[in-house]
Amino acid sequence: MMAEMGKVYLIGAGPGDPGLLTVKGRDCLVKADVVVYDRLVGPKILEMIPESAERIDVGKNSGHHPVPQPEISRILLEKALEGKCVTRLKGGDSFVFGRGGEELELLAAHGVPFEVVPGVTSAFAGAAYAGIPVTHRDYCASVHLITGHRQKNGALSIDYEALNRLKGPLVFMMSVANIDEIAQGLMAAGMSPDMPCALVENGTLPSQRKCLTTLALAARKVQEAQIHSPALFIVGRVCLLSET
Ligand code: SAH
Repeated sequence: MMAEMGKVYLIGAGPGDPGLLTVKGRDCLVKADVVVYDRLVGPKILEMIPESAERIDVGKNSGHHPVPQPEISRILLEKALEGKCVTRLKGGDSFVFGRGGEELELLAAHGVPFEVVPGVTSAFAGAAYAGIPVTHRDYCASVHLITGHRQKNGALSIDYEALNRLKGPLVFMMSVANIDEIAQGLMAAGMSPDMPCALVENGTLPSQRKCLTTLALAARKVQEAQIHSPALFIVGRVCLLSET
């Protein structure tokens, strides 16, 4: 007899601080039979996984994918078809540069029920924990999230002129290795070299570090302070508010 179909919960675990996992996310996590999780899920959140649950670490180191994306999707599908209650835990929000959509497509194609539990994205929470309000009426009327990750052909796909024109704070994710190129691109598009910037490493975790700098000095700061992924590169005058 075929097992009854299970269900997959795609849960955004937030940026690391366990207090930023949603109540709904925690409720799904504690009833899971199987938990499939990433590198960016906070250690305290992994401690909430029930003893009885099977744990599958598909953690991605920066630039490396130990478990390829199609394989992750296949694991979710298989476990759900076995009748399991599957929790897929991702850092931040699953749909903010999280490939959440890709993982759901295979489930949808097989008629597997799923539910999405949004998470607190590191883009906003990491900024907030560093004292930076991502918008402020005196400074901006928009905010922008940008990936600083290279495409397969090695290029960054960033429209610097457009970003400069928009005037809103820019939050670059997956960008630590490419900050020099990004800063040069923004300055070439007309942004002031003195534009305030912040680097936020391990945002919301006890190991969080924050560096304030300027566009012209940002790349050097990354070297000096040895900033590593995961980190946010925030560009905009709202960074000035960090100290107050
Ligand atoms: N879905 C995630 C983002 C995944 S992309 C979210 O919503 O937060 C991975 C990038 O997110 C990292 O390269 C880094 O730029 C950022 N990031 C994730 N967690 C972070 C943290 N705790 N502190 C700073 N940046 C973080």
